[in-house]
Amino acid sequence: MTAAIDIQSAHKRYGQKIAVHDLTLTVPAGELFAFLGPNGAGKTTTIKMICGLLHPQRGTIHVCGHAMGVNGLAAKARIAYVPDQPFLYDKLTGREFLHFVAAMYHVAPEERDTVLADLSEQLVMGDFLDKLTQSYSHGMKQKVVLASALLHDPDVLVIDEPMVGLDPRTVRMVKDLFRQRTQAGKTVFMSTHTLEIAEAVADRIGIINHGRVVALGKLSELRAQARAEHSLEDIFLQLTNPLVGATEDAVEL
Ligand code: ATP
Repeated sequence: MTAAIDIQSAHKRYGQKIAVHDLTLTVPAGELFAFLGPNGAGKTTTIKMICGLLHPQRGTIHVCGHAMGVNGLAAKARIAYVPDQPFLYDKLTGREFLHFVAAMYHVAPEERDTVLADLSEQLVMGDFLDKLTQSYSHGMKQKVVLASALLHDPDVLVIDEPMVGLDPRTVRMVKDLFRQRTQAGKTVFMSTHTLEIAEAVADRIGIINHGRVVALGKLSELRAQARAEHSLEDIFLQLTNPLVGATEDAVEL
């Protein structure tokens, strides 16, 4: 079966600094994948390559079988990206913004309104959707940006730090939403520093350090690999310990 995300030996450097080092990673359809790593490990760079916002110097990236950089539009039509800093137009209402995004993805107005009504109920957006987004709290912005990513029912949702700034009830809603999507065969790829959330919801976890995947698998497999009995936090701290087996940040000359 075609993988939802297939990264083969992707290599990305900025100048001489290698951010992602020959990274190979495959995420099957229907999986909730959590991507973890310390600051500067290469998560955002990887995510931007998956979404076609950055191109690797070497290697290939396929989304639902479409090669980024070759058949990029087809790949991008199957994907949605939610960055960690939600961006909205201040002078539009949430609903106007969502209509704008739906039009970009060629979602017909009737379908858009049906999906939007569901999302508005699920994410409890009814009381602010018709106000200008300049008046929104961080959490309200997050909800609208998440809704905008789901309007075209993407096969792959790539989301950077999905739970930051959300209240506990909304966190639960978002977790449920992710679970519903994966049960319907869709894929969620999320990067997070919140290890409890990764531990609670992810089917598989990948840990990146200095641009390389240092651990990959189910939580039970990571425990075995790290010979750690306890939490994901223990495993993470052990595998990314800068004092143990540290390779200095790689540079390519
Ligand atoms: P964080 O958890 O802090 O957001 P991250 O895992 O997302 O970190 P990246 O943003 O992918 O890490 O950065 C990986 C490395 O590449 C870092 O060393 C960073 O300094 C470097 N880097 C990222 N973007 C650029 C850029 N535009 N120019 C130069 N170096 C960059």
